[in-house]
Amino acid sequence: MKIYNTLSRTIEEFIPHEEGIVKMYTCGPTVYHYAHIGNIRNYIGHDVLEKALLYCGYSVKRAMNITDVGHLTSDSDSGEDKMEVARKREKKSSMEIADFYTKAFFEDFAKVNCKKPEIVSRATDNIDMYIQIIENLLEKDIAYISGGNIYFDISKVKDYYVLTNHIEDKMVVGARLGVEEDGNKRNQADFVLWFTTSKFENHELLWDSPWGKGYPGWHIECTGIAIRYLGEYLDIHGGGVDNIFPHHTNEIAQSEAYLGHKWCNYWFHNEHLNDESGKMSKSNGDILTISHLESLGYDPLSFRYMCLNSHYRRQLVFSYDALNQAEATYKKLINRIASITDDGELDEGAFANYNTRFIEAISDDLNTANALSLLYELLKDEQVNNHTKLDLIRKFDKVFSLDLIREKKTLENDSEIMALIEERALAKKNKDFALADSIREDLYNKGIELIDTREGTTYRIVGE
Ligand code: AMP
Ligand code: ZN
Repeated sequence: MKIYNTLSRTIEEFIPHEEGIVKMYTCGPTVYHYAHIGNIRNYIGHDVLEKALLYCGYSVKRAMNITDVGHLTSDSDSGEDKMEVARKREKKSSMEIADFYTKAFFEDFAKVNCKKPEIVSRATDNIDMYIQIIENLLEKDIAYISGGNIYFDISKVKDYYVLTNHIEDKMVVGARLGVEEDGNKRNQADFVLWFTTSKFENHELLWDSPWGKGYPGWHIECTGIAIRYLGEYLDIHGGGVDNIFPHHTNEIAQSEAYLGHKWCNYWFHNEHLNDESGKMSKSNGDILTISHLESLGYDPLSFRYMCLNSHYRRQLVFSYDALNQAEATYKKLINRIASITDDGELDEGAFANYNTRFIEAISDDLNTANALSLLYELLKDEQVNNHTKLDLIRKFDKVFSLDLIREKKTLENDSEIMALIEERALAKKNKDFALADSIREDLYNKGIELIDTREGTTYRIVGE
């Protein structure tokens, strides 16, 4: 398996610490609002990575956090805790908000067939772990207390900017634009591990600590949860590209300072999905979710199909045109597969040949678009019998997770299609050709092609 590693900025051969076993960590959502489709694209990327590793024979132990405290409105230490923002907005307790949006998150996550990681842990369930790490960092004089908060001193680590290729100035300016100077910090890039006194006086969630009542910073959560559940050595850690700095940069600094050795070998980052305005924000109140797309009549898996058609390291621009196109292609694919009659015997040679090529595609830094092209090639291949085709499609779908093989529906049993065919016949009879044509196009997009003959109208599955 070859994978792009942000740490080396190259595509590398993937070698886990322990043969055959992958320890993988994914930064989870901040549950102060619904997850938008950009966030979901990021989780689809991680889902494909996990499933590709499983397909290639690894066993995967994967953990993900749920951020229900400590993530401020700026990824640096300024702004307000996002959970507090939601608490004021919705006049509910932080826990009610966290429960509500965690549930909504996993609903949308399941709708796009993402597999829930084996370990999912809330930030608020691991406070003891953060305290243990912070105490250790204070003992080592890598963390310090100032103005009541505990900070991490970035000058104490050798290679703080290793993940960002040492573009320190750019990173610092980019991340701290509009952020006020914090007089408590020794270096302006130092970050908070634990807030005791802070400007957020009415913070609802507070825990006892050796330094007084307080709450953890955002970065320490992922370090604490990853080390608690996956141990001292991590193989893959991932998130969206915006997590590279400061979040993952800080995670590396504090984890390695705590552990005393290198922590994680591969850093996996998904490019963003933006809308045409250039940003898909969760905090502006207008959130485009998977459930919303579903309420508009889209199949959530059309969105997954759209994501798989582009590379996870490429930015993707969301538009309804693009989604309509993805949905039409996806539906055609499903109908085409549904029309395959399972006959013939397993052709082991053909199976092995296509399976090897599929592994090559996904092992090539998760080239899902090439893997999908291979699927189309298989469908067209007249040398491969139907039974072998279906076995291969079922196997590929362990990574695609597009529900490619659905229960066979005959057209006569599909009341929606039959009603549309009748409606078109009536429109033609009434000489409403515009309506007739639009129904015909609609049916075509659903994978049904109408054929008008002198004897009447018949139909066939597109691509058959
Ligand atoms: P959050 O809930 O804000 O903590 O974000 C959850 C995950 O979504 C993080 O790993 C982010 O890096 C990622 N993310 C945020 N915005 C986008 C976007 N527009 N496209 C893809 N991923 C995103
Ligand atoms: Zn994280």
